[in-house]
Amino acid sequence: MQIKLYNSLNKSVDEFKPIHGNEVRMYSCGPTVYNYAHIGNMRAFLFADLLQRTLRVVGEHDVKWVMNITNIDDKTIRDSQKGSDAWLSDMGEQTNNPIENLLMLTKFYENSFVDDINKLGIDSSHFFSMPKATEYIPQMQELIRAIVEKGIGYVSEGSVYFDVNEWRKRDIYGKLFKIDFDNFRAGVRIDSDQYEREQASDFVLWKAKKDGEPYWDFDINGENCPGRPGWHIECSAMEYELLGLPFDIHTGGVDLKFPHHEDEIAQSKAGYGIEPTAFWCHNEFLEVEGEKMSKSLGNFFTLRDLMEKGVDPIDIRFAMFSAHYASKFNFTFDGISAARKARFRIQEYIYELLNRNISAQDIKSELIEKLCDSVFAELANDLHTPKALAALFSFMNNNNAKNLDEKDVIPMLNFLKQMNDIFAAWSFEPKEEIVEEIPEEVNALAEARWNAKQSKNWAEADVLRQKISDLGYTVKDKKDGYDLIKN
Ligand SMILES: [Zn+2]
Repeated sequence: MQIKLYNSLNKSVDEFKPIHGNEVRMYSCGPTVYNYAHIGNMRAFLFADLLQRTLRVVGEHDVKWVMNITNIDDKTIRDSQKGSDAWLSDMGEQTNNPIENLLMLTKFYENSFVDDINKLGIDSSHFFSMPKATEYIPQMQELIRAIVEKGIGYVSEGSVYFDVNEWRKRDIYGKLFKIDFDNFRAGVRIDSDQYEREQASDFVLWKAKKDGEPYWDFDINGENCPGRPGWHIECSAMEYELLGLPFDIHTGGVDLKFPHHEDEIAQSKAGYGIEPTAFWCHNEFLEVEGEKMSKSLGNFFTLRDLMEKGVDPIDIRFAMFSAHYASKFNFTFDGISAARKARFRIQEYIYELLNRNISAQDIKSELIEKLCDSVFAELANDLHTPKALAALFSFMNNNNAKNLDEKDVIPMLNFLKQMNDIFAAWSFEPKEEIVEEIPEEVNALAEARWNAKQSKNWAEADVLRQKISDLGYTVKDKKDGYDLIKN
């Protein structure tokens, strides 16, 4: 089915067509691994997962999905220097080598990130690659050299900057995000990886080495400028190396539009002569109980925090998919239990279909094909998951699983399996009967009652039956024994 997506570059819902045959090459800005990812970050990764799965299942595309691991930026360096209990106890002692410390910290949080996303139903085998910034330093340096050679970058005090004014003479700066150039600070250089729109100015491509920080040698203009890459150049170099330019889709949270994605576009166009992609897809923010998530409000949650409160990660996944990715998502505990209920309604429906024990037949079902078309049409229309789920629930309301026509059962199960290839929220194993352990005491009383009955001691047998009943069980006699049933 033809997929349509909201493209932040054109600000319209556009038909999506891959550049290379049926293969979709997709790049998602991944986590900065200096701490556990919080649920706001998770929304961006779940959105990217929803998109790539919909492309596979509904669009019938092959997907080459790359998500980078930012292991070098201001925050990873800051925290690798101070050391924190979590990663130090797990990964070993802090050393005198700043690169080793950086790699230790970031490996720890990369592992925890992969663990978290797997719990959220993101399948690691769907990634073509999860490149780490430190493994692509030469490629970043090559891109920086190209930008400088073209006169759009310059060296200053051992750092290299992108000359925004020069770039604006050649192309637009502000394709994704409207930048107010009245207040543009021409010639001002900004070194931090993250900054506000008001701070638009020459941004850093390569940062000169500071005492105690990790650094790499960098030969540029015939001099060595030891230092490390800026955050934005990392994504430009890795996507070029792994996917080639242009690739099909770039994803990220709306907060990355500026400066990160805007700078990515400028750098790639300046250095490689090609923009990364013509399709930019962004997911909206997440709030908690109607407020911005922040540590000071006490509503800042990592996946671990929520699991400690008894939340099932798949309910978080399903709750997020119950809202449209481009609308703000309000995370509430009530919302999570409502999502769980809705998810289990579908799960019960699946169990009931499985219970009907109908073997696979090669029969087409018009009814299910119609359902599939209507649900997939909603997904194909800019991933409208709430409308897709509404169409499914309406079908379930009108078509009880127990009464569904025999010829529709297997096609319906097959359709729900396809849905699960996107939602990853249900099981297709037959429901396990919950076998409760009968207490030892009850078993002993029942055994004694059986023996009393065998020796025709009816009074004793009645007393024992009452005792068993008081403990909440009923004895049902059979020809050659008895069953114990919980009242
Ligand atoms: Zn990025």
